[in-house]
Amino acid sequence: MSDDMEKKVFKGRIKVPYKHTAGAYVEKFITDIGKSNKIVGDKCPNCGLIYVPPKMICFKCFEKMEEWVEVGNKGTVKGFTVITHSTPVMPLEPPFAYALITLDGSTTDIIHLIKETDPKKLKEGMRVEAVFKEKPRKRITDIEYFKIID
Ligand SMILES: [Zn+2]
Repeated sequence: MSDDMEKKVFKGRIKVPYKHTAGAYVEKFITDIGKSNKIVGDKCPNCGLIYVPPKMICFKCFEKMEEWVEVGNKGTVKGFTVITHSTPVMPLEPPFAYALITLDGSTTDIIHLIKETDPKKLKEGMRVEAVFKEKPRKRITDIEYFKIID
């Protein structure tokens, strides 16, 4: 294309509506959180790992998992990152943290929010507890955030 050709620009917006199904395992996980403020995982019959959120197949030994296990609403922080800048999609007003949390009774970790306005209070190994949303919407954010308990 030569530089002297007129270039036409059409502005528009493409709408891409879609639905994503969570699958039977995550469906049960999210439903139990909203219905009874209980967090469930599943246990591998071969190696004994307890996955939260639940998985259909064990990542370690590829065994199908069908035993549901209730884990605690409290857990231990394994790592975190502090969010200090706001964007329109932030779930909380910064500062807050995204953390890797091992719930009591689980052998895997869940990534979730810690609501704490003073990032200096955050530390690896600290104990946190889930705070559930009053009106659940069958989303992972039905655990609204975790709060520091020690
Ligand atoms: Zn396994």
